[in-house]
Amino acid sequence: NKFEQLGLNESLLLAIKDLGFESPSEVQEKAIPLLLEKDTDIVALAQTGTGKTAAFGFPLIQKIDVNTKHTQALILSPTRELCLQIANEIKQYSKYVKGFHTVAIYGGASITDQAREIKRGAHIIVATPGRMQDMINRGMVNIKDIQYCVLDEADEMLNMGFHEDITAILSDTPEDKSTWLFSATMPAEVARIAKVFMKDPAEITV
Ligand code: AMP
Repeated sequence: NKFEQLGLNESLLLAIKDLGFESPSEVQEKAIPLLLEKDTDIVALAQTGTGKTAAFGFPLIQKIDVNTKHTQALILSPTRELCLQIANEIKQYSKYVKGFHTVAIYGGASITDQAREIKRGAHIIVATPGRMQDMINRGMVNIKDIQYCVLDEADEMLNMGFHEDITAILSDTPEDKSTWLFSATMPAEVARIAKVFMKDPAEITV
């Protein structure tokens, strides 16, 4: 099992075994060792279906300190469906990590229910940019101490008009976090976000 050679811990290897993943996909092979090794920024060009959720999800789960309750990672994703899908995958991947909490927040559902969930503790928040910014503005969520920010399907988020929300949200996060940007394409607008908000990112293409 080549997953064992990527540096993943026992809880993740057990979950991977349950899921029946036999070997890492290309983006996983390239991203996981890099992200586990050190806190670095990355830009990864990868389409949906390449296994990119696990490529960022496994390292996040391994790096997060489950003994502290505060939110340590934020994943921004373009749609409610994708948020739920990512959150569900991360819940499966983290099932052997006791006390690990992942919360999805998105529009079109009760904001007070989502705020309540976050208050109970969310190591990872998976959010659409609009709802995230709304909850920040209302003081319902605190991302001042996050260490990792994942921009998933960055090209799609920008296509959907989330530029302002994304820049506002990123400006609300600590300078010294790591940013992991995943995108199927690299139009100028995505490159600009990378240039403004990221530090010397490693580049991965699959
Ligand atoms: P994604 O590109 O993250 O949307 O993943 C596409 C699908 O592939 C998801 O349903 C994953 O559960 C699955 N998957 C991810 N990594 C692997 C792997 N290494 N082997 C088999 N299936 C995988």
